[in-house]
Amino acid sequence: MELNDLFKKNVSCRVGKGERTQFWLDEWIGEGTLCVQFPHVFNISNAKNAVVADMLQFDQNGTRWDFQLRRERYEWEEEQFHQLMTLMEGVQIDEANDMWRWKPDRHGNSSVKSFYEELAKLEILQSQGATHIYPYRLVWKVDIPSKVQFFMWTVMHNRILTADNLIHRGSQVNPRCSFCDNLNESISHLLLHCSVSLNVWSVLMMSYPEVYPNLFTVVSVEEWLNLWPPGTHQEFGSKVWSYLPYAVFWTLWKTRNHRIFRQKTVDVEAICREVKFTIWYWCSSWKRRKKYRYQDLDDKWSDVLTGLIHPL
Ligand SMILES: [Zn+2]
Repeated sequence: MELNDLFKKNVSCRVGKGERTQFWLDEWIGEGTLCVQFPHVFNISNAKNAVVADMLQFDQNGTRWDFQLRRERYEWEEEQFHQLMTLMEGVQIDEANDMWRWKPDRHGNSSVKSFYEELAKLEILQSQGATHIYPYRLVWKVDIPSKVQFFMWTVMHNRILTADNLIHRGSQVNPRCSFCDNLNESISHLLLHCSVSLNVWSVLMMSYPEVYPNLFTVVSVEEWLNLWPPGTHQEFGSKVWSYLPYAVFWTLWKTRNHRIFRQKTVDVEAICREVKFTIWYWCSSWKRRKKYRYQDLDDKWSDVLTGLIHPL
């Protein structure tokens, strides 16, 4: 467990003006964060990082909630949407500032003490090297083509030639990210937090809605890889899952280069297809691949990841 998780597990928030509490990602109402309680609505919200106050609209009829959905809701999203609206009816926004408070433990006591106890355990584990995996294992021990290993090594050591690094070396280049043209390009922006990249991750991680939100808590590629949980026990599903983050990084980087050097357009669906194809290609040295079909990656992606696809 990382320090951040430990903190989240032990504190909750009392919302006042709603300006310091992240609507989806902080635990402030109901059991757990809203992104976990209502993954379908979270998925289509354009404001995944928004604070509570951002989700409120004021007009002549008073206040109403607007979750900033990027499209109309489908039928299967309706139920969660209405549950969320019902939950929101009970929310009182007032003039106080949002406050963090310690969650009581099972006996109703403040959990400051148990927090420190857990912190101590965490430190012991870290000193034994149990929770920290060195980049070495995240790069050279992974069964991916050597040019991709090398790319990952440059990413981990911040040597990759993104705009910020080029400028740092004295080149005159456009600092803006070529995907969104909105924020400056850095490694973590390009590979993790750009709106295009977030979309790619969210589409490909649809069957792991409890893992995707972690993306908003990490600041580096290394941290994201360290948090990547083991996949299913099924051989094909687990292979695909373990390749997935590397295939996304590699494909985003190639897409970014095609965009800059060949003015190609950026299309989330095309990136996702390319990721699946890349994973299939990386599996080619695996003897058992002939027991599976590429078509399943395209048509039954979620079933593959959750281990529902069986060998022919
Ligand atoms: Zn961007």
